[in-house]
Amino acid sequence: MEFYFLGTGAGMPSKQRNVTSIALLHPKMTWLFDCGEATQHQILHSPIKPRKVNAIFITHLHGDHIFGLPGFISTRAALEGTTPLTIYGPPGIREWIEATLRVTGTYLRYTLRIIEVEDGHTYEQDGFLITARLLEHRFLAFGYRLEGPQERGALRVDALKALGVPSGPLYRRITQEETFEFDGTVYASSDFLEAPKSGVKLAVLGDTMPCEASVTLAHGVDVLVHEATFADREVEHAGRFGHSTARQAAEIARAAEAKTLLLTHVSARYVEQEDLLEQEAREVFPNSHLMHDHRVVPVKG
Ligand SMILES: [Zn+2]
Ligand SMILES: [Zn+2]
Repeated sequence: MEFYFLGTGAGMPSKQRNVTSIALLHPKMTWLFDCGEATQHQILHSPIKPRKVNAIFITHLHGDHIFGLPGFISTRAALEGTTPLTIYGPPGIREWIEATLRVTGTYLRYTLRIIEVEDGHTYEQDGFLITARLLEHRFLAFGYRLEGPQERGALRVDALKALGVPSGPLYRRITQEETFEFDGTVYASSDFLEAPKSGVKLAVLGDTMPCEASVTLAHGVDVLVHEATFADREVEHAGRFGHSTARQAAEIARAAEAKTLLLTHVSARYVEQEDLLEQEAREVFPNSHLMHDHRVVPVKG
C-alpha cells in the first residue's frame, strides 16, 4: 500500500505544486483524499487508473480541495468506469455535485453514492473503519482516521509439532479457517496462532489549525498527513486563516504519538526555501517529511 501525492500546494496551483489531492493505492482499492482542480491532469502522469478509484474522501468544500471533482467523476465514466464510486464529504457536497452534474448534462454510467459525514461517526469502506472528526479551519472541515483490518497472527509451528501435526496444506488451512480437524479431533485454529496484529492506522487531515480533534484522529497512527501551509514566522497569519505551520503539525504528531508525519498543503511563498518547513518540523518531530507532487510513500498493510 502507498500514498501517492498528486497535489501538495495551498490555495492555488503553482508551477511546482498543484492544489490538494492525495491517493491511497492498495491492491484491492484506490482512494482519493480531496480532488483539487486539475487532479485528473496529475493522474495522467501517475500510475493511477481513474476507473479503479472506488472512494473519494473530501475534507472540506474550499475550492482548492474540490474543484477537480466534477471533471474527475465525469472522465471516470468516459474511461469505462462502470463500478460504483462512493464520495464522502461534509454536508453540502451532495447538493453541489448533483447540481453540477444536472446543469452540465453529465451522465454517469456507474452508481455514485454520496455520504455526508458527521462529526465522530465511523464508516466502513473496503474493510477499513473510517472515522470523521470536525477540525478547526474557520470553515466546516473534517479529518479522517483510517483503521485497516486486523491481520491474523503467525502460525505457532512449535505447538502444532508438539501435537504431531505434519507441515503441509493443513498449516495453510489453520491460518485461514476458524477450526481444523486432526486425528479425529476438532481444534480451534486461534489456539495455534500468535495474537492478531493490529491493522494499519492512518490519519489524513484537512486544512486546520492545531486542535484536539487532530490529536484524537492521529493517536498512535503509522502515518499522519497534515497540512503545513506556513513557516514559524507566519504563525499569527496561520491562526487568522485557520491553518497550521509545519512546527504546529509536528507538535500534533508528537502529542498523538504518530510514527511518521507527512507535510503537505504548502504555500507557494516558500518555493525558494522549502527546506525551512521540514527543518522546523523536524526540530519537534524528527520523522517529518515535506511532500512534493508525485511523491510516493510506502505504507505497511
Ligand atoms: Zn486548502
Ligand atoms: Zn481550506
